[in-house]
Amino acid sequence: MIPGPIEYEHDVLSAMSKPTYAHTSKEFSEIFKDALEKTMIVFGAKEGLPYAIAGSGTLGMEISTANFIKKDSKVLVVSTGYFGDRFVDLFSRFSKNVEAYRPPLGSQADPKQIYEKVSKGGYDLVTVTHVDTSSGVRNNIKEIAKFFRDLDTILVVDGVCSIGGEDFSMEWGVDVAFTASQKALGVPPGLAVGVVGPKAIKFMEKNPPLTFYSDLRIWQNVLRTYMQGKAAYFATPAVNLIVALDVSLNMILKEGIENRIKRHQIMAESIRVAIKELGLKFIPKEGSYANTISVQYLPENVKQTDFLSDAERFGAVFAGGLIPDIKEKYFRIGHMGSITSSEVLIAIGAVERALKKNGYKVELGKGLSAAQEVLYKNSY
Ligand code: PMP
Repeated sequence: MIPGPIEYEHDVLSAMSKPTYAHTSKEFSEIFKDALEKTMIVFGAKEGLPYAIAGSGTLGMEISTANFIKKDSKVLVVSTGYFGDRFVDLFSRFSKNVEAYRPPLGSQADPKQIYEKVSKGGYDLVTVTHVDTSSGVRNNIKEIAKFFRDLDTILVVDGVCSIGGEDFSMEWGVDVAFTASQKALGVPPGLAVGVVGPKAIKFMEKNPPLTFYSDLRIWQNVLRTYMQGKAAYFATPAVNLIVALDVSLNMILKEGIENRIKRHQIMAESIRVAIKELGLKFIPKEGSYANTISVQYLPENVKQTDFLSDAERFGAVFAGGLIPDIKEKYFRIGHMGSITSSEVLIAIGAVERALKKNGYKVELGKGLSAAQEVLYKNSY
């Protein structure tokens, strides 16, 4: 139960073990077309260019930004943790005009503050991380995005820890969004998956980027050809991963996006009530919680390495911290994609026993009982 790579459905894994199609074959072209069309649906996008390109989420960060800036463009990074800050590093390769807006740890970004900054003008692009996987803080993309509909500034959303598990739609006013296959899309690591909206496409067609593999103008020709069920070539696609993506997207749409998001909400709530019942404190402030990940401090005297290895022995693998100053003081529970109530209960059971084993006073079953109530009430 780390926040990605997650546990994958059997059908997705077995799709990956099929013989590899030629990337120029009719069979693969049809599958890629289907996967791209379904990517649009999962991103809540009515128009634009979907992509699935071999690389991890960090490639998604680069593709989704480098194509939409010029040298020394003025950009604003809204950072609610480690992955927000990664954009500052990324932009430092392209621009000397990078500004960061960092709300206090655990707090969401204030949409009005973003609007005030951006409406004063001059920003070419703004990035926001929907759920920062290091802090577990979820930003209110719907409120932030609505301001961007009438602005020239391009809004880029990092949906790596959200899309496929949290409520999200490009139609809110998001210009570019992306995720990575290994998280809530439910496909092993290796694909950057995203959608580019019309405002951003217009920009990139006029402004060549300073990159090569990430140049979306080249990819656009290839992707649009595959979207007609025909093959084209720039760089070899990750054939087996795209076949697996198609299977996973079919499963997501079969469950129904609304049902899937609801399931994530209920699993997250059951974990949160349990963690609260055990007396642990969250990093995200009330109202900033994500439904894909729970991030909480360990009790003062519990050593993280001992806690994590005991929890693993008791049946659940959790992740440590990522925020430099406090990374040994907290742990993260990922609960996205195929997450079920059984896994929630195993995880909470392991948290309880690992805490007790490490000297923290805990009444075994207290967290489990709270989680059970939420699951029962919601018929899970
Ligand atoms: N953004 C977020 C929010 C992430 O959680 C991650 C990875 N955990 C990334 C970007 C980078 O993705 P990757 O590790 O696949 O390159």
